[in-house]
Amino acid sequence: MSMYRGRFAPSPTGLLHFGSLFAAVISYLDAKSRQGEWLIRIEDIDPLREQENSKQGIIHSLAAHGLVSDKPVVFQSERSELYEKTLTILAQTGHTYACPCSRKYLNEHQGQHQDCCQKRLIKGLPCAIKFHANTRQYRWLDQYQGRQTHKPTEDFVLKRKEGFYAYQLAVVCDDIEQEITHIIRGYDLLDSTPMQLALYQALDKTPPVFGHFPVIISDCGQKLSKQNLAPPINDQTALSNLLKVLRLANIHLKEPVTTCSQALEQACLQWNTGFLFGKRELGQAGSL
Ligand code: GLU
Repeated sequence: MSMYRGRFAPSPTGLLHFGSLFAAVISYLDAKSRQGEWLIRIEDIDPLREQENSKQGIIHSLAAHGLVSDKPVVFQSERSELYEKTLTILAQTGHTYACPCSRKYLNEHQGQHQDCCQKRLIKGLPCAIKFHANTRQYRWLDQYQGRQTHKPTEDFVLKRKEGFYAYQLAVVCDDIEQEITHIIRGYDLLDSTPMQLALYQALDKTPPVFGHFPVIISDCGQKLSKQNLAPPINDQTALSNLLKVLRLANIHLKEPVTTCSQALEQACLQWNTGFLFGKRELGQAGSL
């Protein structure tokens, strides 16, 4: 196996938009410029937020931009067994508990659980499985944001009452199982990292390197996201989309290119993470 294995892990809540293309390209360049492998994983654990045809749409758009997974694409919806096995380990080691209290209830009661929960009279109630947070500080050297120290997390959900696995659980199970060495993703996910580090520790696994690069914001200052209705990327203009992403990352190709693969190959040679270091957001205007 290569010493570097990275991944791009989109949730299929819509088609690929410019912000997610930027994320895919940065994780790809980070991996490929160091002779690493780059995998695609579709995080389809929440059927209620899923948009029809978006899984295949995302994979198709990535391929149109020259971004192809080095291993078969993994779908989280097919990996319940792994998540259940991990939940059993965490339960056996005392890291989890079943809890019927909603987030709303806990917010309204300063984190105090309902009486029935405190007395463990929860038989027959729909319960979430939650992770016991601990009091230590989480530190890591972020490849894009530098030294990070984060306060303890609150208890968080690993499996929802409705039976769906939570992002924090699935992402850590898969990153461990797929032997991911570098998690290179947008700054918007930085707050999840302490929770994920807590899970690595509970499972007695060494965490990967983390790097949180800036997210793309629209002209009105909002993060480009499916929730903000960012328009899907047009695959017919793949090369110019890709060149726009590269310019935004301060890569100005020295030689003319006619295909996305050529552009990516050259970009790998010119790749320099320094330009994105310490930035949390990038406006699109500079790339036009
Ligand atoms: N599936 C997550 C998202 O689309 C990303 C997960 C990750 O990179 O850790 O926001």
